[in-house]
Amino acid sequence: MMKCYHFQKENTSLSVGKIICLARTYKKHAEEMKTTPPPNPVLFLKPASSIIFSGGTIQYPVQSHCVHHEVEVGVVIDKQAKNILKEDALTVVCGYVVGLDITARDIQAEAKKNGWPWSIAKGFDTFAPISDVVSCNDVNDPNALEFRLSVNSTVRQQGNTRDLVWNIETLVSHISKIMTLEPGDLILTGTPEGVSEIKRGDQITAELDVFSSLSVTVGN
Ligand code: MG
Repeated sequence: MMKCYHFQKENTSLSVGKIICLARTYKKHAEEMKTTPPPNPVLFLKPASSIIFSGGTIQYPVQSHCVHHEVEVGVVIDKQAKNILKEDALTVVCGYVVGLDITARDIQAEAKKNGWPWSIAKGFDTFAPISDVVSCNDVNDPNALEFRLSVNSTVRQQGNTRDLVWNIETLVSHISKIMTLEPGDLILTGTPEGVSEIKRGDQITAELDVFSSLSVTVGN
């Protein structure tokens, strides 16, 4: 089923395309995962079918016994871009979301050990909750966005895009040299430190600065 973004102000309709996720883009998160940021950004994909919206429920997969939250700033693309220069990169961005890169950490650990892709660990239905889209017109500097995540009202993660190893323009430009960015694509820019386990029944809230927020429940 095609999913469309919810925009805060405009009455635009835009279907969710591919979801490009970045790994190890914050130094302190790389360190907590016992690794370092790579020389170039590491990408993986999530399916559009993993998207849910605020008010939704994360389905706890029967295949996993350890599911983690990762809070991330998402960049929504509304124009086609191939080999776009850094200085032009923000012209293909229409707005930003706060999103969760929900991860079956036990399945990911097994994949890492065996050199397998992360598609299963990252790709379950409901594993990409996102907020409404904040228009880029409302965001002065996408490289100075604060964001945070709480579980049952306790803050677990706080980040700022100024701590990204590569800024937003560099990430958009880099990805467009690999795959054509198309209207509706979403870039999840990676998580800061503080990832931890979520349990059935948890209430998760994420905020993108003062602009947008997301509330989801972990189901059974
Ligand atoms: Mg992530």
